[in-house]
Amino acid sequence: MTYLDAEEPACRGENDTVRVVITPAEKDLGDFAVRRVLPSAMARQVGPFVFFDHMGPATFPPGKGINVRPHPHIGLSTVTYLFEGEILHRDSLGYTQPIRPGAVNLMTAGHGIVHSERTSEALLASGQTLHGLQVWMALPDEQQEIDPAFVHYPADQLPVVNTASTSTTVVIGTYEGQTSPVQVLPETLYVDVKAVDDAHLTLPDRVEERAVYVIEGSIDIQGCVIPAGSMAVLEPGVTAEVSAAKDCRFVLVGGEKMSPRHLWWNFVHTSPAAIEVAKARWQDQGFGTVPGDEEFIPLPQK
Ligand code: MN
Repeated sequence: MTYLDAEEPACRGENDTVRVVITPAEKDLGDFAVRRVLPSAMARQVGPFVFFDHMGPATFPPGKGINVRPHPHIGLSTVTYLFEGEILHRDSLGYTQPIRPGAVNLMTAGHGIVHSERTSEALLASGQTLHGLQVWMALPDEQQEIDPAFVHYPADQLPVVNTASTSTTVVIGTYEGQTSPVQVLPETLYVDVKAVDDAHLTLPDRVEERAVYVIEGSIDIQGCVIPAGSMAVLEPGVTAEVSAAKDCRFVLVGGEKMSPRHLWWNFVHTSPAAIEVAKARWQDQGFGTVPGDEEFIPLPQK
């Protein structure tokens, strides 16, 4: 079974199902590493997914934690989904929410929101292991300027589809007849698949653009081996057969094809002019503040 061998190099576009394999460099943020999978030179966006970060796993000793000061977003929704640990979210709408494993935290920026992501005092004192995904999803062209919103969906609200060899959490969208309560505007699919035994499964092909990102272990997509930390962007409309060894974990993300987005810092928009307006607005402190978190990240000068 070739899929058990994580050392094998991933195929690169030679497979009829896999269009391209993205293997991002690990970006060292000081106390922990992040793999920035999207955007990539090989794929700017996959369906509504314009940004895809895999955080950790990172072990913070007592006294260390994440400390992302208040910063703005426009034109997107962020989806934070953790496997381990906790992040304390605060935003300019007044929400304070500890983000914990298995929950979905959907923050829609629309015309503008400010948030911070930190470690709570209790976890700062104890230390913790943090592991998870943060993705940004573009809003549909006509809805980029909607009002901001934050919605927390506890882990027990997400449907789980079990087979003899897999346990699949439906994070967003509909999978095998089970629909997530998470409400997003573009047509989206985001599922978290754990192989509880050696598994063979067929990925849904009705999703216009799709990618598979491997969290643990490695998977085989019709002869193309995708190791942990790599993303396989799939050809549209073709059947994709996946083999995954026991204890492997991967996510499938995708959705409707969207028009190209401009990304600058934390701003996402179809219009470069809208991004320039957002830059000036942050510079002029026109986005509002996060109650209880008075710091902020200055506009980068790049
Ligand atoms: Mn952010």
